Amino acid sequence: MVQRRRSRGTKPAWQTEIAQERIEILFRNAGKEFPRHPELSDRYVEIARKIAMKFNVSMPSRLKHRFCKKCGAFLVPGESCRIRLNSEKHYRIQTCGLCGDKVRHPYVREIKKKGELKKPVNMQKS
Ligand SMILES: [Zn+2]
Repeated sequence: MVQRRRSRGTKPAWQTEIAQERIEILFRNAGKEFPRHPELSDRYVEIARKIAMKFNVSMPSRLKHRFCKKCGAFLVPGESCRIRLNSEKHYRIQTCGLCGDKVRHPYVREIKKKGELKKPVNMQKS
């Protein structure tokens, strides 16, 4: 059977759309469950990351800040992570409360343009 297949790694648009929607929902649930079941939130993050990987979709930037890349914990400022701002160099340091991993996020862009700019995800090359 000779059938033209899509190049590796690219999934049809409808699939990536569903994947992104599911990631959003999972993070929403993680936030909802966090006060009572923080371990459930971590599980939601795990599932969301797996979906992102499987469908090759990038996490929206605002969601990227909400989990630890090292241990996968759901991060809530003041609860499961610490955020420190460096106003001179315009970045914030997010320290994971579980594994202590530090991540630097520059926030220059966030000052320049408030409100999220949605990048169209058109990966088609044809
Ligand atoms: Zn961590």
